[in-house]
Amino acid sequence: MGNGSDTLFWEESWHEDVAFKFLFPRACALESCKNIDVASKLSQNSLAFTFLREPREGVEQDQFDSLKAMVEDTSLFTLSEVSSSTRWIKAVPIKVNVLAWKIKLDNLPTRLNISRRGMDIDSILCPTCGKAVESTRHIFVTCQITRDILHLITSWWNIPYMEVSSYEEWLVWILSLRLSIKHKRIFEGVCYVTWWHIWNFRNKTIFGSESPSKTAIFDEVQSRSFYWCRYRYFLGSLSFFLPLSMHLSLADFVNSKKTREDAFAITIMKVQSQSF
Ligand SMILES: [Zn+2]
Repeated sequence: MGNGSDTLFWEESWHEDVAFKFLFPRACALESCKNIDVASKLSQNSLAFTFLREPREGVEQDQFDSLKAMVEDTSLFTLSEVSSSTRWIKAVPIKVNVLAWKIKLDNLPTRLNISRRGMDIDSILCPTCGKAVESTRHIFVTCQITRDILHLITSWWNIPYMEVSSYEEWLVWILSLRLSIKHKRIFEGVCYVTWWHIWNFRNKTIFGSESPSKTAIFDEVQSRSFYWCRYRYFLGSLSFFLPLSMHLSLADFVNSKKTREDAFAITIMKVQSQSF
């Protein structure tokens, strides 16, 4: 896969070299934009967004559901190629990769970017902290909440925390970490997952009726990271989903050969909550 904008969603070989248009012909028939690229498709709220109409019950709905599951679950497909320039991480779903890619390009509808486009908005301040202009850099790098979460993640991984001020500094820091290549990629994926949750948290803060819980973000990042990486590295060797101890390192887990009993022990370990 290239950078996501030069790869056609329906033409890409996702699963055992078969394109979605052949795997899910009835769903593809609903597509109004047959040449839509991966990045555009996945940046929409729903895969049906560019459909001529919503899928109807029966085969259409079944195919649409399978398509959705396949896109969201990396265990079922492999991206044919990874471009190092886009830092695509196979262990996390492509929608998460697409978000990371947009962060890199500063191509998200942040309040600053919206106002730059000339749209009138009430405030350009960060909705989470209210202390700075809401730029991409602020949301994902310099906002105190983001820094607090990254702090927790570095303790979880047992690596030294470093305060960074930009995407580029973050990347230099990632590349300088004393981890194996495999673990570095997983850790980078964990950062992507964190960004995904931070962006969702931010959207819920602005658009949601309920106030989301800040303390839940880190727990979510841990469980999602395990959930996604599990398929990539454990391939069904564990039948238990893993709610997590804050001090359990994903790197240790990848390295170890956990038995089911161990996995079960982990499931009953108390998840520690920490307020920040
Ligand atoms: Zn902020």
